[in-house]
Amino acid sequence: MVKSPRTLLIVLGDQLDPRSPAIEALDPSHDAVWMAEVAEEIELVPSHKRRIALFLAAMRHHRDLLRARGFTVHYHELGPNVADDRGGSFAEVLADDLTALAPQHLAMTRAGDWRVQQALEQAAASADHDLEVLEDAHFICSRTEFRKWIEGRRRILLEDFYRWMRKREGVLMTPGGKPVGGAWNFDADNRESFGAEGPGALPSVPHFEPDTTTSAVLDLVETRWPDYPGSLDDFGEPVTPAQAEAALHAFITERLPRFGTVQDALWPDQQELFHSRLSAALNLKLLDPRTVIAAAEAALQSGHAPLNAVEGFIRQVLGWREFVRGLYEHFMPEYADLNALECDDVDVPRFFWDADTDMACVADAMRGVLRLGYAHHIQRLMVLGLFAQLAGVHPYRFHQWHMALYLDAVDWVSLPNTLGMSQFGDGGIMGSKPYCASGRYIDRQGPHCRQCRYDPALATGPRACPFTTLYWDFLARHRERLGKIHRMAFQLRNLERKRPDELAAIRDHADSLLMQLRAGQRV
Ligand code: FAD
Ligand code: SF4
Repeated sequence: MVKSPRTLLIVLGDQLDPRSPAIEALDPSHDAVWMAEVAEEIELVPSHKRRIALFLAAMRHHRDLLRARGFTVHYHELGPNVADDRGGSFAEVLADDLTALAPQHLAMTRAGDWRVQQALEQAAASADHDLEVLEDAHFICSRTEFRKWIEGRRRILLEDFYRWMRKREGVLMTPGGKPVGGAWNFDADNRESFGAEGPGALPSVPHFEPDTTTSAVLDLVETRWPDYPGSLDDFGEPVTPAQAEAALHAFITERLPRFGTVQDALWPDQQELFHSRLSAALNLKLLDPRTVIAAAEAALQSGHAPLNAVEGFIRQVLGWREFVRGLYEHFMPEYADLNALECDDVDVPRFFWDADTDMACVADAMRGVLRLGYAHHIQRLMVLGLFAQLAGVHPYRFHQWHMALYLDAVDWVSLPNTLGMSQFGDGGIMGSKPYCASGRYIDRQGPHCRQCRYDPALATGPRACPFTTLYWDFLARHRERLGKIHRMAFQLRNLERKRPDELAAIRDHADSLLMQLRAGQRV
């Protein structure tokens, strides 16, 4: 007979810090951990194979680490046959186990997905168990602290939050309370492209050879979800805290020094460039953001990396990442329904699943996503996200697509970035204006346009760049709404300069392009 635990701690697939306060509070002789692989989380929108493999491999390693420390872990593995599943969702599997295990006390760290949190609370309530929900100590700014920061504010700006966090945490601050280097950011130094010669030899991203646990997961994914998107080729993602720390070390040593200057640049067939590719390890909680920030600060102090790179990187982790999580917690669940541009229920174009498009910039970014489940920030925001926005894709549909294909996507971070920052669906909470631009922006950031059958300078005709056509159409479509946003004035003035016949021709071209996209035709 199974012994009833005193405390049963639910651990989700993105809560894999073996030293979290929730785990440290357990007594292995009386308490137990509960973890489950469930098909619903994989199949809700068919997930990238690499994403499924990453989550399952990291979960199984976490289980094994805890067992090696003497913990009892009740763990449900998915197998190759659907018929052997214990239940389709967390709620179903948990409800069964609560009856069998009858714990005296049930606890969990707050889920990073509102839907999952609700489902678990309901499952616990239906089984007559109180569920204690613990704060997620992974984040540097707690929900309560964020609420205090945001309440009563006239404007919600990342820059204000970031400065507050820098002061509060004493990060990149002088002993006299001033920002190191005399400024809060060095963005002006961080906008270079690579020039004709390109990025040169790039440091490789560390590859962690799959062990037997990971190899079993890779086989499972190929057997059970053979037709799901993406590839498992050369799978070498970090799946343990030790591997995640090694990936951090490699980034700090080899790529951080050039992170800043070319942060916004694009280059064909190069996914990571000088970015860290640490987001998945961070979001699965294999890596602590404090460790990441301390390592970057140490690189500055030792003279290994310059201030513009270190500050630019720390702003992402201490600023954006914490800000996004605070907004999610503060504005959910209503946030998910926001649709400020009143988009119809339009899904992402077909080439967002198969990379089959003549648009060189989109094809390149999508090939990377299908290979790695990763794209860097500018590919997400100013290539794929921009295209979806200009094409009028529904912001929540864009989020669902993103959740399916990216290794680092968890609801708390994907939703504000996709629906908010990228699609302006939140009407200005994440950013004060839509990130909208024509093909000329992409032309400035890298060489794709020179390899493309389209021309970023043209908005009509057979060689018109779809970004450029749709950009003018987007401005015209939302002219009234965008007119209320002070920071859009410059772009709207340029729209006003278009002759009526010129704009009519662009809008005709945009109409046929949108019809082609919605009919699933190749562009
Ligand atoms: P780096 O460029 O090396 O940045 C360092 C770290 O800063 C990242 O690992 C990440 O943890 C953090 N960070 C940077 N920007 C953000 C941000 N806007 N929000 C939160 N954290 C940030 N990030 C995710 O972690 N998960 C997502 O699902 C996600 N979805 C996105 C969707 C869109 C449309 C856009 C525009 C951005 C999204 N981001 C998301 C933010 C950002 O693009 C990724 O964190 C980053 O590209 C991950 O690559 P990296 O680890 O190489 O990051
Ligand atoms: Fe992308 Fe347009 Fe440039 Fe082609 S011309 S690469 S579609 S921006």
